[in-house]
Amino acid sequence: MTVRTRADLADLPGYVPGRTIPGAIKLASNEMSPGPLPSVVKAIAEAASRINRYPDSGAGELVSRLSGRLDVPESRLAIGCGSVTVCQQLVQATSGAGDQVLFGWRSFEAYPILVQVAGAAQVRVPLTAGHGLDLDAMLAAITPATRLVFVCTPNNPTGTALRRAELERFIDAVPDDVVVVIDEAYREFVDDPEVPDGIELAKEYWARGRDNVAVLRTFSKAYGLAGLRVGYCVASEAVTEAVRKVYVPFGVNALAQVAALASLDAEDELLVRCAETVAERGRVRDTLLDQGYEVPPTQANFVWLPLGEETDAFNEHCLAQKIVVRAFSGAGARVTIGLPEENDAFLAAAAGFAAT
Ligand code: PMP
Repeated sequence: MTVRTRADLADLPGYVPGRTIPGAIKLASNEMSPGPLPSVVKAIAEAASRINRYPDSGAGELVSRLSGRLDVPESRLAIGCGSVTVCQQLVQATSGAGDQVLFGWRSFEAYPILVQVAGAAQVRVPLTAGHGLDLDAMLAAITPATRLVFVCTPNNPTGTALRRAELERFIDAVPDDVVVVIDEAYREFVDDPEVPDGIELAKEYWARGRDNVAVLRTFSKAYGLAGLRVGYCVASEAVTEAVRKVYVPFGVNALAQVAALASLDAEDELLVRCAETVAERGRVRDTLLDQGYEVPPTQANFVWLPLGEETDAFNEHCLAQKIVVRAFSGAGARVTIGLPEENDAFLAAAAGFAAT
């Protein structure tokens, strides 16, 4: 007998993660290159003696700490194994067959997959010529079937970020039964004062009775815990309750919870690393511009090179120099900002490609 799986998932592309190649410099997954802080490793080692016990399924201590840190009630926080899991929960909690989920494209590769898995329809709205979200076109694409809109800012993979006025105008115009998810995975790398803090913005909307604004954050990027999988959303109770209903019990493991708490303790140190990344980002972008590349202004820990048909050749060239970037065939390459010496190696490879 042939096993029956869901026919509507037959063409599901599957998520393709950034590659790790032994001996190569990995600038493919927007991770922090510096290793974990000794204080975080120590906390994990201490917690290891208790892994015979299930973790706190609701990650209570972490919720409580984040609640104080962000000045958001605990009831408005939901933790997941990486913010991608919270994305999935948000989609599952809001959207199923007959519903639509809207997002700019190109954006985070997981959105279309999560939407298809939920049985909902994806609506992709092309980016502007400047590689940013086209908010007017996104508004125009909203229909009575729209349940959720992902607004990725800074946008992965282009790095562009929305300014306060444009984001507010957008949210104001979205019907208030449609959840607007501001995906701020890269928030800590923003240095443009005109780019709002989504959580503070969400609080303003909640105060006005607009409960449809949610924000996603992660410990994977600025906090350096990509390997442990912790992320969260802040949203109104209506949204967090629905998100919690569709969670997988005990998903956020005990070591991840402890590491996230230790990272909050060491926040100042981690944010210094972010500032170093931001300084390197400026240097990398300026050098690439000098080399003749188009590089949209970026507020994230990566740069986007819209290389179009040259993308595969660029990727091969980088791989030959033992540098792994993230190539989106026919569109462009996303390159994570690493340590200064890693960035130097990448810039040398980019110069070599530009000269060919
Ligand atoms: N959102 C965006 C925009 C991302 O780029 C990523 C990771 N690439 C995520 C969410 C998910 O990250 P994580 O699951 O590690 O928190």
